[in-house]
Amino acid sequence: MAGNKKKKTKVRPLLARPGARYTCFGDGLCCTDIHGIGPLTKKECAQMRRIDRSSAGWNDDHDDYMLNTAADGGCVFLMADLRCAVHAELGAEAKPDGCRRFPLGLVATPVGGRITTEHRCPCRTMGDRPDIEPPDVEPSVSEGGRLIADRRIKRVPMTSKRDIKFSDWEPIEAEYLARLGGREPLIRILDVEPFPALRGSSWNKQADEFIGARDGTQFGVAMAWVGDTIVAMRNGRSPRPPGRPWAAAFDRAEARSPEPATKREVFGDWLADEIWALKWAEDHHFALARAELATRLAVAEDICRRLRSSGLRADRAAAEAVMMVEVVGESDYWTEVKDRMRVS
Ligand code: SF4
Repeated sequence: MAGNKKKKTKVRPLLARPGARYTCFGDGLCCTDIHGIGPLTKKECAQMRRIDRSSAGWNDDHDDYMLNTAADGGCVFLMADLRCAVHAELGAEAKPDGCRRFPLGLVATPVGGRITTEHRCPCRTMGDRPDIEPPDVEPSVSEGGRLIADRRIKRVPMTSKRDIKFSDWEPIEAEYLARLGGREPLIRILDVEPFPALRGSSWNKQADEFIGARDGTQFGVAMAWVGDTIVAMRNGRSPRPPGRPWAAAFDRAEARSPEPATKREVFGDWLADEIWALKWAEDHHFALARAELATRLAVAEDICRRLRSSGLRADRAAAEAVMMVEVVGESDYWTEVKDRMRVS
């Protein structure tokens, strides 16, 4: 017990992953139905409804309070110039916590608070971005001046039967991050085959469910892209791909990014953040994380190839592909897939 107390998690010092770069350029994808906009606390929901009665409410699909979207799929507060009306009129503090945080997050560890980033945001994946500096992003991951952790990781599960101390994980992780920042083929670094066998299901069946998730939102289209790509990869069929309703946000990102990164850099940066964020350590283990990441990487590379052949620039094709596999990776659909993976 005494040992556990000594090794408890903490949010300070704030730690940014070396090489992680981000600033908000207002590309405008995050305030749309590429994901559910929320969840909101009951109090935040009431605050938003005081500004606009139709702006927020209980959402049965998400089983939580959420912001509502307008006919174009954007938040009702998103203005034509892509600025947030709440932020513009009442200041950043008036926005719901999730809006102020995205795409940033915080994981408490025994050595400090790791700043994490989501990669479905083109402001995180494209263009000339500054290194993340903890003091600059601290307000985004704080509430009332206090740092709020999304999760706390004390020990690191390596397999279903073995977990290790955080201090033993750090050198293992450092080697992965260094290699992901280099030039080696990414799949060699993950060192595992994609598409592991699934308990009580098949990849074709799961792909059909992804395609069936189309619901008129951008999230549904991203799901369909991933399902469609899995079908094409596994069965050799190449059907017409779905549309790309998020294209305008990536047009803006491309226009402000005259010096494109390589697709290797975009994918390597994404995988490094997936490992650094330690979300996987919360509900499964590193062996399974490598297998599911190898699978999403294989899908992302195939999507990237298809987008490249339609004329998209390499960094943009890779960034759109990462956005799609991250959106799917965050969904309950992918949670079910991970639960079914035969990896121990
Ligand atoms: S409230 Fe503002 S920041 Fe939040 S989703 Fe709506 S427009 Fe975007």
